[in-house]
Amino acid sequence: MRYDIITIFPAILDSYFNESILKRAQAAKKITIKTHNLRDYASGKHLKVDDTPYGGGPGMVFMIEPLYKALKAIKRKKKSRVILMDPAGQQFDQKMAAALSKLDQIILICGRYEGVDARIDKLIDGKICIGPYVLSGGELPAAIIVEAVSRLLPGVLGKMESLQYETFSGAKSDVVEHPQYTKPADFKGWKVPKVLLSGNHAEIDKWRKAKKK
Ligand code: SAH
Repeated sequence: MRYDIITIFPAILDSYFNESILKRAQAAKKITIKTHNLRDYASGKHLKVDDTPYGGGPGMVFMIEPLYKALKAIKRKKKSRVILMDPAGQQFDQKMAAALSKLDQIILICGRYEGVDARIDKLIDGKICIGPYVLSGGELPAAIIVEAVSRLLPGVLGKMESLQYETFSGAKSDVVEHPQYTKPADFKGWKVPKVLLSGNHAEIDKWRKAKKK
């Protein structure tokens, strides 16, 4: 999977992507993440990427031209989608992550300020909202999509089994994972359920199934 992310704050994303699972996945060439600084595609004397909205109103809006140029500069793979991070977009969920994980390339546009010139609609395949609240930029939403999608790709997590029983995955997409415990078995009198220490896998499976919602 290749991710291309257009942002005016690439450093926010680069620091997150350079730790832990996503760092390992990149080193192992399971995923490629490239951030593109929108300012590199600005023109004019002041290299502006934003301007005031037509018709008036507060704040600034990303201009269409730098976005157009940035998108044009990104080499497209066969199965690729361009997605705008947008609080008015389609609500992101595990099902959408699974659908996106089948692509070769995901191009994410991170808005800032009051958002993006509406003519962006000519250049994108969809809009995703990460949750019913408004953030200051599309960087955190983009990072969430990269992480949720990457975990579903073969070889990104240590063991593929760890996906199967996970919350929201499996045949029933609303399944919540059973509770997990680790050492010590007794912490200040807070005990781990006995059955988990029993070594009886049939009983453990039964207990875990019963604990799932
Ligand atoms: N004025 C806009 C909000 C702009 S927030 C409105 O009322 O809809 C600035 C940018 O942050 C947006 O362009 C978008 O890219 C990003 N953003 C904010 N909240 C988001 C969310 N819940 N999901 C996805 N992107 C979001």
